[in-house]
Amino acid sequence: MLIRVLGSAAGGGFPQWNCGCPNCVGVRRGTIRAQARTQESVAVSADGDSWFLLNASPEIRQQIESFDKLHPRVLRDTPIQGIVLTNGDLDHTLGLLSLRESQPLALYSTRRVHRGFSEGNVLYRTLQRFDGQVTLHALELGGPEEPLRLLNGVASGLQMRAFAAPGKAALHLDQSTGEPADNIGLVIRDERTGKRLAYIPAVGASSSDVVAAVSTADAVFFDGTFWSSDELIALGASTRRAEDMAHWPIGGGEGSLAFLSGLSAERRILIHINNSNPILRDDSTERALVHAARVEVAFDGMELEL
Ligand SMILES: [Zn+2]
Repeated sequence: MLIRVLGSAAGGGFPQWNCGCPNCVGVRRGTIRAQARTQESVAVSADGDSWFLLNASPEIRQQIESFDKLHPRVLRDTPIQGIVLTNGDLDHTLGLLSLRESQPLALYSTRRVHRGFSEGNVLYRTLQRFDGQVTLHALELGGPEEPLRLLNGVASGLQMRAFAAPGKAALHLDQSTGEPADNIGLVIRDERTGKRLAYIPAVGASSSDVVAAVSTADAVFFDGTFWSSDELIALGASTRRAEDMAHWPIGGGEGSLAFLSGLSAERRILIHINNSNPILRDDSTERALVHAARVEVAFDGMELEL
């Protein structure tokens, strides 16, 4: 399985357009050791020719252009065979609207996430210009593995299963009636090599499903949004703690770094990193702690082969 990180930042990206925090100012001015990042999306492929996107970020056009394997091969064409959504956050879904242009699309998401994006959304009509423009492959939580299929229906060589990840509905939806199908993690298995990727870019806490997914994976991408619970509070940018936004902080005794460092997966990678997070600085103490735990920090353009 080939894996390419198209974007590694949380919602807002790095730097974020309206943010004057030390990280954002520093990366704009080039005065800190850090690289800019677009919003989280990852491309996976069994053969290097047909690709599936995990999430559709607002920067999808730039991300496709940044990776020649995603470029069209004939006049009207795309190697992108499907798009998998892990939740309905705008940083994961807004890119879908940029994939108009009468191109058939296959969407893999829970029915709940699909409804949250499409219902009452007049802009969604841009993806309904002809019958069958979007094919929904509805994901069932805890179901068996299902093949990721090429647009022509042929199995791609990748199998996927979805599971509930402790989290929240997208901000623009009713927050009072959450369901497990609002936020999911994925396990994708390459049929040829048998290798597994666990993909959990947003998760608020551990659960038996999360533990099961990461324990058997060869590579894990995990929620790296915040280093500490009170990161935005300390910055004066918000009154909400990381856990209030359903993100498990990395640092501290109960942090996800301690959890990840105990896994046997050969690659453990933090992704969906908020611009306030000190691990974005290549020379920070927190980055050194991450490295000491043999955990990696995703960056745009990172590639893995499983
Ligand atoms: Zn910032």
